Amino acid sequence: MKNSEKPTPAKNTAGKEDKLIVAPGANAASELKDFFIDSLKDIYWAENALVSALPKMASNATSAALSTTISEHLAITKNQVTRLENVFELLGEKAEGKKCEAMAGLLKEGDSILEETQPGAVRDAGIIAASQKIEHYEIATYGTLCAFAKTLGENDAAKLLMQTLAEEKEADCLLNNIALNAVNMVAAE
Ligand code: ZN
Ligand code: FE
Ligand code: FE
Ligand code: FE
Repeated sequence: MKNSEKPTPAKNTAGKEDKLIVAPGANAASELKDFFIDSLKDIYWAENALVSALPKMASNATSAALSTTISEHLAITKNQVTRLENVFELLGEKAEGKKCEAMAGLLKEGDSILEETQPGAVRDAGIIAASQKIEHYEIATYGTLCAFAKTLGENDAAKLLMQTLAEEKEADCLLNNIALNAVNMVAAE
């Protein structure tokens, strides 16, 4: 082919050569796997941070039901850390954490609620709100991780991640019930 006969690349309105933002190619699967592992490190850091932070939240709750629910979720969270270690093992990766700025921020918010309130109903409402934000972050994260695992054909990892996802949803549901009971009690007074 002569030089002048070379096909001209398509131009967009800016006159630049068209380029896909995400080019599907042979590397896509390995890039997804890297991103998956990175996200696992993020949530591994987050779950470990929760193991450290939940005792303070539980001990600052006035309502016995709230305190018990958080303490029980602490035990569940410790098991989630172990479960993530099993996921890393299934993938042949070393279990390590990478700071999750989102969870660090949510925990900081939880701390400032404790600083700004006195023990009692309002502090409890704040602890519930902070805890639900945390559970929602975890639900979003594990939902994505499950989808990634399935896409990558890592079905055993997907099953483990799905167990944790169910536990986070259950925790959110329990917190919701405590909040509703508290509101009903205030209304009954
Ligand atoms: Zn995170
Ligand atoms: Fe968790
Ligand atoms: Fe994160
Ligand atoms: Fe949780």
